[in-house]
Amino acid sequence: MKIDDQPIPELPTRVMTGTPVSPGVALGIAYVHETGGLSVIEYCVPENRVAAEVARFRAAAKLVSDELRQISEEVKQRPDQAAEEISYILDAHAHMLRRSRLTRGVEAQITEKQINAEAAVKRQIDELVAAFAAMDDVYLAARADDVRDLGQRLVRRLGHEVANTFADLPRQTIILADELTPADTAQMDPQRVAGFATELGGVASHTAIMARSLGIPAVVGVAGLTKALSPGCTVIVDGSHGRVILNPTPEQMAEYRKGRAAALRRTRALNRLRSLPAITRDGREMTLMANIERPEETNAAVLAGAEGIGLFRSEFLYMNRDDIPGADEQFETLRAVIQRMDGYPVTFRTLDVGGDKLSRVFDLGIGPNPAMGLRAVRLSLARPELLRAQFAAAIRAAYTGPVRVLLPMIGSVRELRECRAHYDAVYQELRGQGVETPEMPPPLGVMIEVPGAALTADALARECDFLSIGTNDLTQYTLAIDRSDEQVASLYDGMHPAVLRLIHFTAEAGRRANVPVSVCGEVAGDPRFTGLLVGMGITELSMAPGSLPLVKDHIRHMRAEAADELALSVLRHADVIDIRRLVDTFNEVYA
Ligand code: PEP
Ligand code: MG
Repeated sequence: MKIDDQPIPELPTRVMTGTPVSPGVALGIAYVHETGGLSVIEYCVPENRVAAEVARFRAAAKLVSDELRQISEEVKQRPDQAAEEISYILDAHAHMLRRSRLTRGVEAQITEKQINAEAAVKRQIDELVAAFAAMDDVYLAARADDVRDLGQRLVRRLGHEVANTFADLPRQTIILADELTPADTAQMDPQRVAGFATELGGVASHTAIMARSLGIPAVVGVAGLTKALSPGCTVIVDGSHGRVILNPTPEQMAEYRKGRAAALRRTRALNRLRSLPAITRDGREMTLMANIERPEETNAAVLAGAEGIGLFRSEFLYMNRDDIPGADEQFETLRAVIQRMDGYPVTFRTLDVGGDKLSRVFDLGIGPNPAMGLRAVRLSLARPELLRAQFAAAIRAAYTGPVRVLLPMIGSVRELRECRAHYDAVYQELRGQGVETPEMPPPLGVMIEVPGAALTADALARECDFLSIGTNDLTQYTLAIDRSDEQVASLYDGMHPAVLRLIHFTAEAGRRANVPVSVCGEVAGDPRFTGLLVGMGITELSMAPGSLPLVKDHIRHMRAEAADELALSVLRHADVIDIRRLVDTFNEVYA
């Protein structure tokens, strides 16, 4: 029996609201994802293997304890004031792995319950965390985090951490969580995950972007969500209107079915545009490309009729794994994407970890302000072997089909020159080694996503081959609003005149230097912005594959001349309300 036809149990209905981040409606059964929880598989250990299992646990505990002591020694050498306190905590953790309630408890679980060491660690950690969390003393309650951290280290050492938390979910699952990281979202299979909702997160967070890319309806910033839910309840996630309904009534279910049918009809109608050009009524041609995070998404890009990959976020290749992908592996991945794109260009962006995108292969720590810290190209230049490996992969792949290489978070001409020096050197090295490369290095472009870069776009344009405007970060940094913080989500606005002026300035700089300028931030896939971007002289847009037909439809209905006029009058205004009014009027006429 399908979930739609199941009788609805008599449970209290709750309608909650949040920020809609990925359109569509989904109905499913709630799976509650606990952040920071351990994911392990539990299995029975035969009686004659119990002693060996205990020994396996002791060996892992010894390794973790040695590891912690070594880190503690290293920390002690650091001159900063916190060093002493940190090394004290690390020593205390190491001590907990000698004979303690934790280790005794794990060993008892293995012996008495005859379960594997990973599961025993999880059970014991869960018990201790609950006990600590229940304590009145704030200091002791905070020790729950220490215990959780130790558990994670132990499970990793035991080597049987479940690689993909969401791999075994049944079909039509709705994931509900306080927070989901981009790495979590990257593990979701749209065949199984019908939708998700979180308590934290903003509209331009990478988690939201991933949801749009995967076509999974999602709502973030739902206050009180985790307190209201129970696993296994029925949930509707309305990612178009920002609603989450727990235990829907029969009327709400009927409304959901109607909404889903209408959405399906719209998608079918839009899909007919697939092979038609993105051309305005008065003949201005636009190039519409797709953003992808994982190579598997290339299929969706092709099906949506994308004329290339305008942004391949390579950092996702570094997530949910314990080792750094080498040049050979990245070359193979890129080559497969190029082949699938069949002659259309693939824009490979070098590593952009940091901020809200983390990977456990880099121990970046949490700096005072991660979005402004050692992120993206700054990390690549601090560790040039990473950059060079990616350059080598892209240059080799360019021999098999059109590739462009894109540098994230460039802040100055200096940084671009430093990257260019590595780029040229890698190209020459490969040639010297007789590796197959194209006759010229592939085009090297710069993301314009830092206000400093936008304001020097003219200088950058003279020294690179193309510009790509990342409006997600450009908005965040221009307005000083964290793109993933739900508390300020209502202030995050790509139509702010400051952001629009920077986009316009960049487009003009590109035009004067005869360098193509594209937009690959989320506004590129938002049809409300299409007229404005066309009018500001942008000729290439790259977006989540699912947004492509809608944007194309918009372009095919509008006149470029009218879009030019719209941009001109918008740029004269400083109040976002006036700007929105002008844009809405334009869109009503041409929608
Ligand atoms: C952007 O900032 O607009 C962008 C496209 O890059 P990302 O979203 O990956 O930071
Ligand atoms: Mg960015």
